[in-house]
Amino acid sequence: KKRVLSGIQPSGKLHLGNYLGAIKQHLDSQAQADWDRYFFIANYHSLTTLPDAAELRERTLDVARTYLALGLDPEKSLLFMQTDVPEVCELAWILTCFAPMGLLQRCTSYKDKVARGLSANHGLFAYPVLQAADILIYDSHLVPVGSDQKQHVEVCRDLAIKVNQTYGELLVVPDPVIKEDVAVIPGTDGQKMSKSYHNTIELFATKKQLKKQIMSIVTDSKGLEEPKDPDTCNVFRLYHFFANADEIAEMAQKYRAGGFGYGHAKLALFEKVDAFLEPYRDRYNHLLEHPDEVMDVLRQGAKEARKTAIETTRRVREAVGFINH
Ligand code: ATP
Ligand code: MG
Repeated sequence: KKRVLSGIQPSGKLHLGNYLGAIKQHLDSQAQADWDRYFFIANYHSLTTLPDAAELRERTLDVARTYLALGLDPEKSLLFMQTDVPEVCELAWILTCFAPMGLLQRCTSYKDKVARGLSANHGLFAYPVLQAADILIYDSHLVPVGSDQKQHVEVCRDLAIKVNQTYGELLVVPDPVIKEDVAVIPGTDGQKMSKSYHNTIELFATKKQLKKQIMSIVTDSKGLEEPKDPDTCNVFRLYHFFANADEIAEMAQKYRAGGFGYGHAKLALFEKVDAFLEPYRDRYNHLLEHPDEVMDVLRQGAKEARKTAIETTRRVREAVGFINH
């Protein structure tokens, strides 16, 4: 069986970028009966940037709630917290001993975060190694991610290949799965939408917040009457993910004709996104009131996932010369 694995950080409220770039593919893959699916909440990773216990706890549960509300089916997919499988930290240590400094120094995600003013602790620097352990410990074949994670999956492959060259075929070398049209969803400031960049359109914000976030999308300064180019406009870009072909064509025509302002376009986008989310809100609110239901899913997921992790860890420990007994 092919195993699909993907993780998501509880570093903030999940957003349209996470949904279109990752979560949607994760949920759609549930139609594939012949795949194993492992989805985890990367709370070890979030400690690199979030030293606030109450907030980390809340955001962790919120990621689970969001997945469950959007349609994660625990019968078809495992959903679990990274910290429920602490073996992954041991594998990360082993991999770290195979990770050249230069390889990690080249990682753009780290460089971008530092450039944005995030303080660079060793965890943030070593993040791709822990991520490699996340993938390798479950013998994952496929890793569906947004293109920002492409380089990290490359690092993972490099490390797996290096370990295999040293000890023989030990680890499954995974492939990233990147859907090009949703590879980088822009945020309200036009940069990659990211929890840590404060430029997100959240999935389960209140309607009022949702509207506010959408209205804050940056556009060029063309006036109401001027014709506009839909192909360079992020409002249009987001609209096209939620509208049908006729609506998209109609919107493009309005842009080109003039007399249609960005405010109008944003309102139309708000209505589409709001209508898309509406059916999921009840379930989300229900889970908000019933954390026990969320915990049950996470506990069950961890139990299964950990079995695989313990097997892999034993195999790797044996191979590198640690004495299992
Ligand atoms: P952080 O700012 O903490 O890195 P993030 O918003 O980038 O958070 P991650 O948890 O790093 O989210 O990523 C979760 C998944 O969502 C990954 O598969 C990632 O590739 C995908 N993803 C994140 N942002 C986008 C985006 N703007 N467009 C497409 N996919 C995205
Ligand atoms: Mg990210």
